[in-house]
Amino acid sequence: MPARQKGRRSRAARLLAWYDRQARPLPWRRDVDPYRRWVAEILLQQTRVAQATRYYERFLDAFPTVERLARAPVGRVLKRWEGAGYYARARHLHDAARRVVAAGGFPHDAAGWRELPGVGPYTAAALASLLDGEPVVALDANGLRVAARWTLERGDARAPQARARLEAALRAELPPRRAGDFNEALMELGETLCRPRAPRCSACPVGQDCRAFLELAEPGSIPVRRRVRERPHVVAAVAIVEHEGRWLVQRRAPRGLLGGLWEFPGGKLRVGEAPSDGCRRELLEETGLDLGPWEPVGTVRHDYSHFTVELHAFRHRLRIASAPAVPGTARWVSRKEFERLPRPRATSKVAALLAP
Ligand code: SF4
Repeated sequence: MPARQKGRRSRAARLLAWYDRQARPLPWRRDVDPYRRWVAEILLQQTRVAQATRYYERFLDAFPTVERLARAPVGRVLKRWEGAGYYARARHLHDAARRVVAAGGFPHDAAGWRELPGVGPYTAAALASLLDGEPVVALDANGLRVAARWTLERGDARAPQARARLEAALRAELPPRRAGDFNEALMELGETLCRPRAPRCSACPVGQDCRAFLELAEPGSIPVRRRVRERPHVVAAVAIVEHEGRWLVQRRAPRGLLGGLWEFPGGKLRVGEAPSDGCRRELLEETGLDLGPWEPVGTVRHDYSHFTVELHAFRHRLRIASAPAVPGTARWVSRKEFERLPRPRATSKVAALLAP
């Protein structure tokens, strides 16, 4: 690390002075209420700040207190979360809200926060430092990147040893009375100036103490990037069964990917299988209904974080007096009822193929 001139302010002090002047007025920064900060931190785990702002307001409109969230049915919580993705976060919030209410209040340190579902080391440290001033480092991807550039960490910053080195370096300069602000400032610097590619070093308040800036022609080359693996592509068929203006939908298992959301029956095609055959097979396997013929209604594509999907949608109109019995996880719903159900974005795209 470069030698510091006598009398010069520390890097942490300059970072905090910059943060005090420049911090974006994000809605959760006005809140010292643990419930609201917690909701914000959970949203920010996988959602960009601009998007998170919208979902944050919407979620808190529906559930303004932890007690209201704890009392709500999980389906309503998932519905409010719709569009934000990573639905496990919403299920965990709901589950954790019940525990907080049962315990009589929120935790007061990082170890206590870690006990709650959905709260990992970063979120726990961020909340404990922000709400109770605990002197702990909250290290997310932004913090790792900034610290790697400050210290010229040439290894993979996410690898455990490098991560431990970076955390120790930050802990050494954590201002004991402003740990929460320091963590926020680090994140702010990473989001606004010290971006993954082409960091804006000329505007940076800590350039004089950044080894990547002082020693490299391209500070943005740190940390080294891991090769991004190509996302798998899934091809699937979707069965839209209609009976007297109602659709057959089913609820996914409560845990796992898109857990608890409602969708049309369907699934992955087998190798060499025609989409209409896959549609018939999947419906039979999932509901016991063997139906045909199938009218193609279109194809939708959707990108998830770990894979992409191509859904071939088919419709079958049942012309019988009463709707057939279906398993307990399925139901017949009008379009209006369908709109009220929490559902994956890809399912909404399929429904949009059908004229209202
Ligand atoms: S000088 Fe550049 S690389 Fe260093 S912390 Fe600032 S923005 Fe990041």
